[in-house]
Amino acid sequence: MIRRFLGKVFSGQLFRPAQLKIIPFKAHRIARERISRCAATTCEALQQHGFAAYVVGGAVRDLLLGREPKDYDVATGARPEQVRAIFRRSRIIGRRFRLVHVMCGNETVEVSTFRGPTDGAADDQQTTDEHGRILRDNVFGTVEEDARRRDFTVNAMFYDPVREEVHDYHDGVADIKARKLRMIGDAARRYREDPIRMLRAVRLAASRGLEIESRTRRPIRALADLLHNVPQARVFDEMMKLLLSGHAAEGVRRLRKEGLHHGVLPLLDVILEQSLGERLVMLALANTDQRINADKSVSPGFLFAALLWHEVLVAWKKIEAQGMPTIPALYHAMDQVLQVQAEKLAIPRRFGADMKDIWALQPRFLNRSGRRPYHMLGHMRFRAGYDFLLLRCTSGEIDAEIGDWWERFQHADEATRAGMLLKDTPGAGKKRRRRSRRRNKPAVAAASAVPE
Ligand code: ATP
Ligand code: MG
Repeated sequence: MIRRFLGKVFSGQLFRPAQLKIIPFKAHRIARERISRCAATTCEALQQHGFAAYVVGGAVRDLLLGREPKDYDVATGARPEQVRAIFRRSRIIGRRFRLVHVMCGNETVEVSTFRGPTDGAADDQQTTDEHGRILRDNVFGTVEEDARRRDFTVNAMFYDPVREEVHDYHDGVADIKARKLRMIGDAARRYREDPIRMLRAVRLAASRGLEIESRTRRPIRALADLLHNVPQARVFDEMMKLLLSGHAAEGVRRLRKEGLHHGVLPLLDVILEQSLGERLVMLALANTDQRINADKSVSPGFLFAALLWHEVLVAWKKIEAQGMPTIPALYHAMDQVLQVQAEKLAIPRRFGADMKDIWALQPRFLNRSGRRPYHMLGHMRFRAGYDFLLLRCTSGEIDAEIGDWWERFQHADEATRAGMLLKDTPGAGKKRRRRSRRRNKPAVAAASAVPE
């Protein structure tokens, strides 16, 4: 115990005073013209009114990594009302911790007042829960305190666009150079304060090509379960950031490596542990990454439909085995899976509707006779359903021939299309056929898609 404590003291984990390093332009090379005009003028105006003001957080990290920041945050010594008074086009947002949105043209910069530590807060309200998770953190502080309450050293640098200096309290610049993601302070304690930091570590490491430093990494596996105490919506938001980071495949691989996939994405609990679902999931993630990196839009509904498809297949087969006809069984299975996920993950309703459309179209791709393929082409969600079908073909879940057929059918002329239609199921009488229009293909079609 004592040895561990002394070890921490000597390693600088405890009692290490923040050492401010001021990095001049010639060392970092971030010219003020390189940052968003809105962020630069906001800092300038605040400084002219006598307040400290810097670009902070992810934007400074990304600039030093040579990447274009997604958005800009400014941290200042001015209180929200003081910021509001300086900028005509600004508004105060947030109740618990008030921030100011400053608008220039169609750009918005988020301005927050330096925050301080919560321990020893003046009133006697509890600031952490029984696991050490911070419940309140709305105390103003100094710039040093603001740096210390940030998560990783590379996220705690302040850029002053007027002087073109980087103010670095925790050796973030050195860590950027070494491509290391290092927690500020004692990692286990910081994860207890906010378990989301474990997911942030994995996402930032995967998306920025950083290595999680060993002391930052080590406590994760043991503390992974603390994520259950975090409000679902926050976990969901963080998962969305990971899935839409352009590095989802790598991110999910790392989540698994750190033992973080349990309970984070309940769907991954099941899928990643079965080789059958995994190919489709990994293909869908790689696909999403490619689209994002090519600046194309992605549909979260489509991605979730892929992540949960295996679950649907298993439930579908089970319900069919209990004697329900194919299509009602599929609808039951979809509802079941969505309900479980909604409880655990809070998948917003609007994605649920997209997912259902995509899933419900799948058995209809197996009908390749009569007028049905023509109706399919006119279906509002044909494109998404078809892309999903291709994913299933590529993953080996269903015969690639089906995907090829639809590819040809879409682009063929009328005469060729007519020649491509398959003969109707033998023995299917007129009455059967009318019903099957709604119920589609016989049970075999679904069952053959379901792994044993
Ligand atoms: P990105 O914008 O790419 O998601 P980011 O680091 O900018 O990455 P934000 O969520 O925008 O992430 O947060 C802005 C900054 O706020 C971070 O850089 C970090 O300094 C601080 N921060 C965010 N979340 C936490 C947290 N859970 N604990 C401590 N500091 C945090
Ligand atoms: Mg950010």
